[in-house]
Amino acid sequence: MSGPILEVRNLHVEFDTYDGVAEVINGVDFTLDRGETAALVGETGCGKSVTVKAIMGLLPSARIPEGEIIYKGENVLELSDSQRHARRGKEMSMIMQDPMTSLNPVLTVGEQMIDVLKWQGKPRLSVTEWLRDKVGSGSSSDGEYRDRAIRMLGNVEISAPERVFNSYPVELSGGMRQRVLIAIALLSEPDLLIADEPGTALDVTTEAKVLDLLDELVEERDTSVLYITHDLGIAREVSDFINVMYAGEIVEQAPTTELFSSPQHPYTRGLLDSIPMLSTDIGTGIEGHLPDYTDPPTGCRFASRCPHAEPECTEVFPHLRETRSGHAVGCHLFDGPAAYSRDQATTSTSIDIGAPPWESRSDEAAPSDTVVNRGSEQ
Ligand code: SF4
Repeated sequence: MSGPILEVRNLHVEFDTYDGVAEVINGVDFTLDRGETAALVGETGCGKSVTVKAIMGLLPSARIPEGEIIYKGENVLELSDSQRHARRGKEMSMIMQDPMTSLNPVLTVGEQMIDVLKWQGKPRLSVTEWLRDKVGSGSSSDGEYRDRAIRMLGNVEISAPERVFNSYPVELSGGMRQRVLIAIALLSEPDLLIADEPGTALDVTTEAKVLDLLDELVEERDTSVLYITHDLGIAREVSDFINVMYAGEIVEQAPTTELFSSPQHPYTRGLLDSIPMLSTDIGTGIEGHLPDYTDPPTGCRFASRCPHAEPECTEVFPHLRETRSGHAVGCHLFDGPAAYSRDQATTSTSIDIGAPPWESRSDEAAPSDTVVNRGSEQ
């Protein structure tokens, strides 16, 4: 089945802080198609995790003053808490960043897995109801859940699944705990899986194994995956489409091959230049830091770090424009039709600050002639 499973439109998220209101997410738009793996990439603190927690409904202290999160055609922001709870963990699943803090330390892996199977899609339980069920547990279905959980632990290549099933999280290594989290996330065979930097807490070898495994499992089940990472190298390996995020905004989005062959936004180019290469040198990095979310600039949020900034950049907001088919950029160096219909109204505020300086340089790689049309891929 083709078409989008998830559409995030003009999403705004803000928090009350002691310094005032922090506008952490500022009009984020992106789409994830069915069966697709897309990545949300950006440096730590740019709002990736806040965006996905807003999608999952896991931000009780945040405000969402504007925007829509359309999952399978319905705006989940208009659903009640119990309706969202029923979808979470069943149709929509998430692998959290830290495998130690995401597992309950006082329950065995098996107890946590059985809870997922037993309560997925059901109304939220109070602690008393949960305890009452625990005391009276031993129902015939628990044996069936146990078998399914142990089978899933085997699927994520845990060599002694029964032992791990009976273990407490503290008895397992970081890599093993991460596999347990993947197993839990896949138990309900979700249609949408959000993987929030699942390899961050792991060493490089274990991370590579976990990513391969995740890739195989979601391909088998045709799951749509939104992959969160600060590492463009990982995004290139795992995703079909990349959304680059900076300071709570999507600044560039393109199919993965297109983004790497023809990066346009100065921030994306900075991220790519930051990747250390064996053949050349250690990466250059990007000078400066993220803006203060309680007092963000009116124009481009990247202006204070951008080597190509012009005075106008700090005054006029650069809306996403489609510069090539399926490739959109939010930067005044690029012109094109507004990438989202709500931006049509703002077309008159676009400004021309000239062509990107690197386009005339002969030593830059020429953009690929192969432009992937996201719409035609389906
Ligand atoms: Fe740089 Fe201006 Fe483009 Fe922002 S809009 S990335 S400041 S050139």
